Amino acid sequence: MKSILSDGYNVLFAEKGYQFVNQFIKENKPSSIFVLSDSNTREHCVPIFLSKLEEKNIQVIEIPAGEEFKNINTCVEVWRTLTDLGADRKSLLLNVGGGVITDLGGFVASCFKRGISFINVPTTLLSMVDASVGGKTGVDLGVLKNQVGVFANPKAVVVDTTYLETLSEREFLSGMAEIIKYGFTFDIHLWEKVQKMTVTSKTLLEEVIYQSINIKNEVVTKDPKENSLRKVLNYGHTLGHAIESYFLESEDKEKLTHGEAIAVGMVTATYISSEMLGFPKEKLSEMTTNILKMYPKIPLYKSDFEPIIKLLKHDKKNVKGEVRFVLLQDFEDFKLDIVVPEKTVQNSLEYYVSLTV
Ligand code: NAD
Repeated sequence: MKSILSDGYNVLFAEKGYQFVNQFIKENKPSSIFVLSDSNTREHCVPIFLSKLEEKNIQVIEIPAGEEFKNINTCVEVWRTLTDLGADRKSLLLNVGGGVITDLGGFVASCFKRGISFINVPTTLLSMVDASVGGKTGVDLGVLKNQVGVFANPKAVVVDTTYLETLSEREFLSGMAEIIKYGFTFDIHLWEKVQKMTVTSKTLLEEVIYQSINIKNEVVTKDPKENSLRKVLNYGHTLGHAIESYFLESEDKEKLTHGEAIAVGMVTATYISSEMLGFPKEKLSEMTTNILKMYPKIPLYKSDFEPIIKLLKHDKKNVKGEVRFVLLQDFEDFKLDIVVPEKTVQNSLEYYVSLTV
């Protein structure tokens, strides 16, 4: 597959990606090389990745798997380990993992000794189609997602769908939600393709991944710092993030994957779109039915609304306390920065709760 040029770096596919990493190491002669992984990617992905590299003197750093470890304490541990292992300003960090590893690893690298080079090797569908491009790095602050971070670009992104073979179905579906988001906002054919896809449709999967990275890349290169267009990527994420955080902090709820929360966020945002911008009701009902086929209803009750709305008010995109949404007039026809009254948000949650499967 043809490489995708982003902001000063390339997204390279499979063998071309490994060739780049080998060449980069030869030309830049890093003083030391580290792989950052979590417990799962160390087992399933790091051996494949290392087998592709000519350089063998590489040290692997492992952190525990999971969003709950995407915090500053884990960064401190990694910075200490890098220091203990003698890393310096000419070291190279290779982030092999999902969005947690690429977000945290990018942040760790861009702050360590005021910035060392890093390359991202996304191993989940979500990190391939979303977290891999765009330069956002960072960590969570308690349950508040991505509150601390910087924009920093990797030297390259290596996308190899082989890694997806060990990914659980639940995590696979989590990434699919971002592809669906690109479909609703930019190219409805993507949504049609996703619905046709089966686990074995590797070619279709690669096509859909490629198109998704292209869409994300076009958006982030036009508006890297999220002044305007990039906000569209938050479609389904405003309420989705609040729901994700709420489920993460609630002791009596099982934590959701990012995509499961975003699926609810997309249904509710489209409901709000139909109330406020006249998004066609029949399309809302059809998309809701099909989304629920992929993402079964989450256990959400009236008593959850208030704490979710409270979390919504912490959204980084709010201005002067007003909650702003990306909404749709129709598929592929989005509107940014729409101030949504609290009552309408509540109604959208009620709509979701009222759905019968
Ligand atoms: P993740 O990194 O936690 O990975 C999900 C799970 O899959 C983990 O348990 C991980 O260990 C496991 N895993 C990863 N690759 C595997 C493989 N190949 N085989 C088996 N198991 C594997 O989460 P994620 O869903 O990849 O990413 C979510 C994170 O990405 C969130 O923190 C989110 O904020 C961030 N994100 C960032 C951006 C951005 O632009 N920077 C965009 C979207 C999401």
